[in-house]
Amino acid sequence: MSIYDVTAQNPYLFKQLKSYFGRVRVWNRGQGFEYEEGWDGSRPICAKTRGGEEYAVCCPRCGDKRFRLHINHMWNEPDPVTGYPMRHLIRCWNEECDWSDLSDELLMHTPDQGAHESPMAMPSRMSKGKSYLSPGKLAKLTELEDDHEVVVYLRDQRGFDLEELERVWGVKFCYRTSHPRTEGLTWFTQDRIVLPVKDVDGKVVGWQSRHLDDQPKKKVLANGEKIGIPKYYTMPGMSKGAHLYGLYKCHQSKQLVIVEGATDVWCVGPPAVCPFGCTLSLFQERLLCATEAEDLYLVFDRESDEEKAKKIDKEVTRIRKVLGERFRIHEVTLPEAGDPADYDRDYVRQIIDSF
Ligand SMILES: [Zn+2]
Repeated sequence: MSIYDVTAQNPYLFKQLKSYFGRVRVWNRGQGFEYEEGWDGSRPICAKTRGGEEYAVCCPRCGDKRFRLHINHMWNEPDPVTGYPMRHLIRCWNEECDWSDLSDELLMHTPDQGAHESPMAMPSRMSKGKSYLSPGKLAKLTELEDDHEVVVYLRDQRGFDLEELERVWGVKFCYRTSHPRTEGLTWFTQDRIVLPVKDVDGKVVGWQSRHLDDQPKKKVLANGEKIGIPKYYTMPGMSKGAHLYGLYKCHQSKQLVIVEGATDVWCVGPPAVCPFGCTLSLFQERLLCATEAEDLYLVFDRESDEEKAKKIDKEVTRIRKVLGERFRIHEVTLPEAGDPADYDRDYVRQIIDSF
């Protein structure tokens, strides 16, 4: 056994790279990924201070023989602050090499063996949770005035049952950001819907807040600078890619319905889960594989925007490739552009049942 077979920081990725590239060398063996929480002017970001362990392979783009293509052990893992998969953590050090789309290629051609192992065996670095940060002062939906904007939005415009949202999903309304650490986050939590996010055991690990508009307007500061306000905002320090919203309610389920956002989960109800977007992280794939489920129904939003539609198609193809042996995968197309939450529950379930 060569020295390079010794367990790496990310044995799953290491195995994948080995099966794809053949030979892999390990740099900075055993060093973790260190980061600090930064601020890009409008939202918290992960400022990388040290990348830690990297896997070096011969780059297929430039005919390199000197192991100049480096893939960080955290490649495609959720960003510890934003939760998006960190697919940028790859580069070829040969100056003339065009390695920019290698990350996409790797995603498509690498058999995901990690997804078939228990999430319990996952490296501990991902479970190193940060402390819970309060979004602010919360009000019960059922105790708000009948003409309150959130009541009008959720009940009248979206057709949700407020009592159910409160009882089943713990949804609340944040009327004031009060915590000293959240002061800078006023625009991201105040006057917004707040939904607790629970891990697979049902323990609260964080929250997301949602703006009442589908396309929130930019905030204009006193100096004229415009700041984008996100529709969904995730608790700083909570890695959304490390959780599947609603999964703790689906332990016995033989079928799972994957939708994009929390409102879609509320609409369909269990066994619907969402990855907080239209892509699954490696971590989320492992969570799925550890369930009893046999059938996966993919009910992504039907996009009228061509770019977004392409992105979803690409992800569906990838999911089929990666999880196709573990599950029967059914892609469910909604009759018209929109997301599942635009329809009523019985209707969505009928569509799903017909596949
Ligand atoms: Zn190269």
